[in-house]
Amino acid sequence: MRIIESITEMQQQADAWRREEKRIGLVPTLGYLHAGHQKLMEAARKHADVVVMSVFVNPTQFVQGEDFELYPRDLDHDARLGNEVGVDVIFAPQVAEMYPDGYQTHVEVTRITLPLCGRHRPGHFRGVTTVVTKLFNIVKPHIAVFGEKDFQQLAVVRRMVRDLSMDVKILSHPIVRETDGLAMSSRNTLLTPEEREQALLINRSLREAQALVAGGVRSAEEILDRVRSRVSAGKGMNVDYIELRDPESFEEVARISGPALLAMAVRIGKTRLIDNCVLQAAVESP
Ligand code: AMP
Repeated sequence: MRIIESITEMQQQADAWRREEKRIGLVPTLGYLHAGHQKLMEAARKHADVVVMSVFVNPTQFVQGEDFELYPRDLDHDARLGNEVGVDVIFAPQVAEMYPDGYQTHVEVTRITLPLCGRHRPGHFRGVTTVVTKLFNIVKPHIAVFGEKDFQQLAVVRRMVRDLSMDVKILSHPIVRETDGLAMSSRNTLLTPEEREQALLINRSLREAQALVAGGVRSAEEILDRVRSRVSAGKGMNVDYIELRDPESFEEVARISGPALLAMAVRIGKTRLIDNCVLQAAVESP
């Protein structure tokens, strides 16, 4: 496994692979890998001959006052985990090369970025779509894998690829959870043991919502009331949002008739966690 820092070197490697007719798979990450990321690499491997994982804590997707500086970083750890699942190249560029002085170009998806994380982290998705576009131009992948944990991000990237006719296939991977149900996240390592315990309310409340729907409840208000009060009851839990939205249009859902995305972002102490599930009349448990 090679670690490439330079944009030109990565582009030359991608060109060489393409000349050899190798299919390139890309998994973009912020690094500090966990077993959930590894599942995405394995999924990429099934659809590609070579797998590139990018490790880049992208400053433009962090909003003023967020944890950009505090975000955990450990390239040796990432290299070890990448190696375990047969990643061919880690692309780990420097901020100064990705955004040199004078940088002024951005890619923006307009409508589905408005609610949820878009509303609570203004500018976040513009940072995501901009860096993903750059990564596509640098790594030149045939396929790229994104996790359903960042459900809105996945939809936004899919929208961008369709709208801008980008020649890359977007694949998704279901949420990977710890055995107690907490969605894996690099930010989980920032939780104190007590906060980690409280965080279980997130997944539990999603399961409760699924049970309500399975029991015949269809009113979004009733489901949201229950989930919000359950999560807010946790010590030190501050809800950014808990909402029911159409998983494609991201319009608000008033009644569960088709699939409905139940998405939430919750702050526990200084750490912000997100989770979601798609509710429908008959669903698998998260
Ligand atoms: P991140 O490093 O948090 O930006 O995540 C990189 C990619 O891994 C994104 O596509 C995430 O959606 C995905 N991902 C992170 N955690 C999980 C998880 N627990 N299950 C599935 N995908 C995940």
